[in-house]
Amino acid sequence: MMDKRKPYQLVSREWKTEDTVILVNGVEIGKELMLAAGPCAVENEEQVFTITEFLAKQQVRFLRGGAYKPRSSPYSFQGLKTEGLQLLRKAADKYGMAVVSEVMSADKVDELCEYADILQVGTRNMQNYPLLRALGKINKPVLLKRGMSSTVEEWLLAAEYILVGGNERVILCERGIRTFDTATRNTLDLGAVALVKQLSHLPVIVDPSQGTGNRNLVAPLSLAAIAAGADGLIIEVHNQPERALSDGEQSLYFDQFAAMMQPLAQQGALRNKHFDFQKPRLPEAETTA
Ligand code: PEP
Ligand code: MN
Repeated sequence: MMDKRKPYQLVSREWKTEDTVILVNGVEIGKELMLAAGPCAVENEEQVFTITEFLAKQQVRFLRGGAYKPRSSPYSFQGLKTEGLQLLRKAADKYGMAVVSEVMSADKVDELCEYADILQVGTRNMQNYPLLRALGKINKPVLLKRGMSSTVEEWLLAAEYILVGGNERVILCERGIRTFDTATRNTLDLGAVALVKQLSHLPVIVDPSQGTGNRNLVAPLSLAAIAAGADGLIIEVHNQPERALSDGEQSLYFDQFAAMMQPLAQQGALRNKHFDFQKPRLPEAETTA
């Protein structure tokens, strides 16, 4: 008889029916909605602290920022590296936030674990198997972006690499794929979000910033993502988007970000999923599941 089981097993609902919930910084990711925000890249101390202070006032619990940046051009700003991670950690600690930052290679996993609470795997690295294997051995959650040209099955198999290594704390992130249409930077595949929520027990979040490349599309696509069943969002925001060293055109202005919070909370409530910022906080932060 033909075996009809999915090629990925540990990430599938065939293996585990109930939703996986990942506790980070007092937020139950997968149950509550996760909201991560911050600049595409860490640029300097003033920038990071200005943005972090703003986000803290908006009750955002997760600070995103790239210290190691995978840029299409070798001539573009490549990130502040270790110094960037130190700035993120300092700002996040000051405001009680958790750090989400990208790890670009297996040899940087230890360094990222030292500074970040969630390690992000970028779209260009979704099929970097030595990296995925290394992330299977750590005790921090991993945010796994979908490869820009990857199928849903390849994406779930990439997650399987991490789970089979022993790390079950994986958050999937749809960030748009390459299609024939270049009107938006990528085509944000919200159909895949609804599908993956059925196929897998892992939390699925959406990145409408890389997904559209256009700050004016971030709010509507964020609402649509939650309506499609996403467990959260990762959004780029900058104090001076026109001066940003990367992805300025898709970074929200502070007032745009603030205006989005209430509609997002309402959309979450419709799905009986509350945003992390709506919950009263415990004084001490936790980072264990
Ligand atoms: C980012 O989050 O800034 C980023 C580089 O994402 P992606 O890997 O999805 O392009
Ligand atoms: Mn970016």
